[in-house]
Amino acid sequence: MSAEASRAEVVLLMGPPGAGKGTQAARLAEARDLRKLATGDMLRSQVARGTELGLEAKGIMDAGELVPDDLIVAMVASEIDPMRPVRVLLDGFPRTPGQAAALDTLLTRDGTSLTAAIALQVDEDELVRRLASRAAEEGRSDDNEVTIRNRMKVYRSQTQPLLDYYAERGKLHRVDGMGSVDEVAERIDEVLP
Ligand code: AMP
Repeated sequence: MSAEASRAEVVLLMGPPGAGKGTQAARLAEARDLRKLATGDMLRSQVARGTELGLEAKGIMDAGELVPDDLIVAMVASEIDPMRPVRVLLDGFPRTPGQAAALDTLLTRDGTSLTAAIALQVDEDELVRRLASRAAEEGRSDDNEVTIRNRMKVYRSQTQPLLDYYAERGKLHRVDGMGSVDEVAERIDEVLP
């Protein structure tokens, strides 16, 4: 194992729906040799497999609401706990103060701490445009106008306050998410320690 791969690293990718988290997460995870944990993808896989969690999550996701913290935290913990060292890129988690507190506890228990939280900043008009084009391409059942509006509202009320939480801890890096995938990638690389 290389020296780099033996060190713990925990990076959060945050931002509203349509900010480009998924695209940047995939690239960043590969570039820094991190396991990507995208809670939305994990939930969609549970839904597709028809598991108990999937059945519980489907209606909540289709309404653009948040799946309860205890279910999400258990799902993430089962991935992180066995990792030594913990090398992970979290996409779409945490999304509530409760999840952020649970993540801190989880990392402390595993003897590590957060490396950085990246918050992608994108104009609301651009978000709506990107989500509409993703709806046409991927056919995600929660990419319709009513649900998109609710997901934005939920982001503003429940997730945006977390930016302050990470800023107060000196972990937050706000990154301009407008422009091409490569331009945004370059900005992220510049701010990461
Ligand atoms: P995403 O793919 O990250 O946009 O997530 C799609 C949907 O999955 C969200 O609108 C929520 O319903 C659910 N979800 C994903 N991550 C979380 C999370 N950390 N907490 C609660 N619900 C989540």
